Amino acid sequence: MFRHAIPIGRIFGISIDLDYSWFLIVGLFAWMLAVSYFPSELPAASSGQDWAMGFVAAVMLFVCVLIHELGHSVVAQIYGLNVPRITLFLFGGVSQIAAEPGTPGQEFWIAVIGPVVSLALAALFWEIEPLLAYISPWIAVAECLALMNLVLALFNLIPGFPLDGGRILRAMVWRATGAYQRATGAAAVIGRFVGFLLIAFGIWEIFRGALIDGLWIAFIGWYLESAAGSQLQLESARTLMGQHRVADAMRRDFPRIAGDITLQTLVDHFVLPEGNHYFVVSEGNAGEGLITLSTIHTVSREMWPVTTAAQMMIPTAKLDTITPDAGLWAVLEKMGRDGVNQLPVVEGSQIVGILSREDILQYLRVLEAFAAGPRPATSRVVRRGFPVSKGHSHLP
Ligand SMILES: [Zn+2]
Repeated sequence: MFRHAIPIGRIFGISIDLDYSWFLIVGLFAWMLAVSYFPSELPAASSGQDWAMGFVAAVMLFVCVLIHELGHSVVAQIYGLNVPRITLFLFGGVSQIAAEPGTPGQEFWIAVIGPVVSLALAALFWEIEPLLAYISPWIAVAECLALMNLVLALFNLIPGFPLDGGRILRAMVWRATGAYQRATGAAAVIGRFVGFLLIAFGIWEIFRGALIDGLWIAFIGWYLESAAGSQLQLESARTLMGQHRVADAMRRDFPRIAGDITLQTLVDHFVLPEGNHYFVVSEGNAGEGLITLSTIHTVSREMWPVTTAAQMMIPTAKLDTITPDAGLWAVLEKMGRDGVNQLPVVEGSQIVGILSREDILQYLRVLEAFAAGPRPATSRVVRRGFPVSKGHSHLP
């Protein structure tokens, strides 16, 4: 999800990462606070003080966002869900929870703790204000943080996916109907509606002359709308893939090579002409294995003519494999979690197929074509990217 993120430490075993966009948003916030908020709150303060307050408040806001995300993550951990990382980025923070909550109760408590933490932080900053009475700039910073945490809590309670309020709504509908997918659909539709509302409000603000505010609100609206939209897409794919198995979509005519050919021959005669990214290597009694382009890249070119595929293959026993009966949706989630592009399908110790993300997407397109009703021979309908679920992402 975040290719350019810097890990800055670990809390409760969770990696805390800063995406490059975080530096941009902290700078933007510090600037907005330094040139408009603090000068109006403390006219007597110098511009140097305004900038110092602006910078401290912007960084402190993200400390609060981090604490909010830690709230979600710790409750998820209590329910036994793995949380590999929290990333702070342009729109706040994302807790990457490795699996969806299993019950409405889990979904409810994982979601509601976030706004509760932000409300508590707002109250805390309000409470400590009198303690800062003698150092006036810091009162203004505390007041600003109390306000921003209150806004954060209330904004997140809007019942639109992927905001916390949307997850709370999903938990309630799920509890009432017992239908997870219908509940997700309802929360995501409201999420899209909220997104469009924010875009409209942002455009209206721009026309009223508040360019920066308007642009920012419209941008958040666009982000919410597209996040909710991809959740809907995800749910419709999950429904379509429902009962389908790996065997339905896997490639049985996967490229197979003998173990004694050299990497040079492999590249010249199989990789370049046919464009395959992986090969099943048969090594007689020594069994089988898989060799991929990334494995070949680990060998220096001058060694290609003298290195055989069998020497570089990963034996089946060491591979992460799936079985033909595994659910297609579960395997797609696994690929997303583990960041892999293809998985060998084995029966016993034999590789009987290969399943790549592209195979699943192709299969999904066919399912969509059929779901859309009878059409002349299933032609490739629409080639479009597809959001692979990366676990449970929480906006702050
Ligand atoms: Zn949250």
